[in-house]
Amino acid sequence: MQTNSIGTKERAALKCPVCKSPELRATDLEAGLTFFNCPECRGNWLRGAQYWKWLQQHGPNLPQRSDQDSGLSLVEPDIHIDCPECRFRMVKYLVGHGFSFTIDHCEGCKGVLA
Ligand SMILES: [Zn+2]
Ligand SMILES: [Zn+2]
Repeated sequence: MQTNSIGTKERAALKCPVCKSPELRATDLEAGLTFFNCPECRGNWLRGAQYWKWLQQHGPNLPQRSDQDSGLSLVEPDIHIDCPECRFRMVKYLVGHGFSFTIDHCEGCKGVLA
């Protein structure tokens, strides 16, 4: 267990990058993976470090960062979303693999809004 920079104070301060005002509620999905859920748009924010590590460990067939054609394609967003943690402009991807939803990905902290 790592207990370095991520503390409870930081947890409580995240706001939804889409709706701006509501605070995201931290929900522990399982050990090592925490969703930050927006009560209004039901968006889920996942911390980059946690998310990509979790993906590596559990290996689900979700998108990975790749420049090759893995079914992940850039989508021209109708609204621009700024990362709630580091304020980077987020990039929208179509998940592919038979899924029709998109995720927003932060190039700065690698966070994901799903
Ligand atoms: Zn929201
Ligand atoms: Zn970020």
